[in-house]
Amino acid sequence: MLVCPLYETIMTLRTAANLLSCLTARRVSNTVRALAACIRAERSGTAAVAGKPHTVTIEPTNLCNLHCPECPSGSGALRRREGYMDYDAFVEIVDEIAPDVVAVQLFFQGEPFLHPRIEDMISYAHRKRLFVSVSTNAHFIDEDNAERILRAGVDKLIVSLDGATEESYRSYRVGGNFSRVIGALKALHRCRCAGIGKRCELVVQCLVTRGNEPEIPRMRALARRYGAALTLKTIQVHSLEGAQRFLPRNDRYSRYVMHGDSFRPKSPLKNRCRRLWTHGVITWDGTAVPCCFDKDAAFPLGTVTGNSYWAVWSSAPYMEFRNAVLRNRRSITMCTNCTEGLRVYPRGK
Ligand code: SF4
Repeated sequence: MLVCPLYETIMTLRTAANLLSCLTARRVSNTVRALAACIRAERSGTAAVAGKPHTVTIEPTNLCNLHCPECPSGSGALRRREGYMDYDAFVEIVDEIAPDVVAVQLFFQGEPFLHPRIEDMISYAHRKRLFVSVSTNAHFIDEDNAERILRAGVDKLIVSLDGATEESYRSYRVGGNFSRVIGALKALHRCRCAGIGKRCELVVQCLVTRGNEPEIPRMRALARRYGAALTLKTIQVHSLEGAQRFLPRNDRYSRYVMHGDSFRPKSPLKNRCRRLWTHGVITWDGTAVPCCFDKDAAFPLGTVTGNSYWAVWSSAPYMEFRNAVLRNRRSITMCTNCTEGLRVYPRGK
């Protein structure tokens, strides 16, 4: 099954309607050209680029207030410099990509609402008719700013809530405050009930772990109470210890297969990656990286700040990385623990 960030977002009619409102002839034609180039590359085994990505992730910051054990930001495993994207650099990037790109994701590593100008970022991208999504731990959303955030024009707001109780929530979201997240959901819900931000799709996203998997029905009820959709997401783990501690018992909520003392993704790891043709990722300091699995920017493909992103997109390092995946995906460790070719969001209840 085709798995790409744009597809994953088409989960509700509201999202679909918001996406449709962002389409222009140029953006549609670009998306078709990018997908066609990707399919041609898969068939020929050689990368050629036509078109630009339909989605670009722009990281506002890689700092986070929480300490989730399997997250490189939160666990302190991230080695790259910490910082915040310069707002003028953000505007330059958006100005360049907006004619061709359909969607921007204002999150990567870190908590986006730590950025002092995140509302301006949302608003600017929205004014360019981009589909704007933000994923947050919701510790910085409250009665004071919920209305402003919704009015800024966010199309999809993903609130991470990995548990229906304080105890299960804290077992993974170390340093988090369950009540604060509920407070944020209440504030957002109140605004939406008053007709503010009704077009925004509010999603409660639960990373399914061994600790919270029995609570899924309660999570569904909780999300509904605040007018949100529930999305279940499989967790990425990086070690056997992490796998044994966090992978759910129910196989349908896991992206891995356990084999005694080892684990591997359920995907056959084909030599392909659609993201490399359809989805760009830029870190807070303007480094283009292959995908959101390159959390430490271990594969920098060019600097966007002061340069054309499209020049980087079709540059020699980018092409070489695409070719490396087409030749032998398994030769790149990062590419053996990702969701390319996999379902990240399990279907059903
Ligand atoms: S880790 Fe490699 S194969 Fe997976 S999405 Fe990223 S570039 Fe593609």
